[in-house]
Amino acid sequence: MDATVGDALRESADRLAVEWGRLDAELLMAHAFGVSRSDLLLRHLRDPVPAGFAALLARRIAHEPMAYILGHAEFYGRRFRVTPATLIPRGDSEVLIEAALTAKPAPARVLDLGTGTGALLLTVLAETGAEGIGVDASEAALAVARENATVLDLDARVEMRLRDWTQADWADGLGQFDLVLCNPPYVEDDAELDPSVREHEPASALFAGPDGLDDYRVLMPQLEALLAPDGVAVFEIGHRQAGAVGDLARAAGFAARLERDLAGRPRALVLA
Ligand code: GLN
Repeated sequence: MDATVGDALRESADRLAVEWGRLDAELLMAHAFGVSRSDLLLRHLRDPVPAGFAALLARRIAHEPMAYILGHAEFYGRRFRVTPATLIPRGDSEVLIEAALTAKPAPARVLDLGTGTGALLLTVLAETGAEGIGVDASEAALAVARENATVLDLDARVEMRLRDWTQADWADGLGQFDLVLCNPPYVEDDAELDPSVREHEPASALFAGPDGLDDYRVLMPQLEALLAPDGVAVFEIGHRQAGAVGDLARAAGFAARLERDLAGRPRALVLA
């Protein structure tokens, strides 16, 4: 007799040598059926294993992130489309949303530097009545961000523009913003990273020179020109970078307040 879904889930959880193996196996199986995880567990445990499951499991065994296999990730309670052209939104980054909404509960114009999936910008726009611009140096990422804007019904309030802040005049015509969000690349070039990150997520969204600070060095001196009077910027940082990025911010004329993530690690600086 062919193996049932229930058997395959037990066996797959063992083969997936990751912490959430059983959950991942269930989500991949649900994806192969095209049903929700709860429907899978309620209705399909005795079914034969669908043809597509083995290939999905093989991708996960090769460390491909779940978000790329499933094509989406949750961020701040919403679902975002994700492709290998974009960094996967992380729970740790939700602290930027909390910090931004606390500092600017009713922003009028929001800028997101390196928007990727658009998760930071679109979340703030959805939580407030703001309008915003997302910029990114990757046209493939912008296509994903635009798709997310459409799914969230935010097209009328957002523009996604191709801009590369390593080029002169990249910010021409953007105007000023009362909230600037930024999760730049900040990983040291030779940092030890989980293979699911290093081998699959876009290097351009992760790495920023030998000390991971290249993008902060470029952006901090340009921030004042982008901020409206009383504007606030919220930057994600690596957990050991609060001192160095704080120094760059102070050198650019900003006071920096530290925010920690759910694990209590330094994760964001609020600049005003
Ligand atoms: N937090 C990410 C990681 O450590 C890095 C994200 C970034 O460079 N902006 O995998």
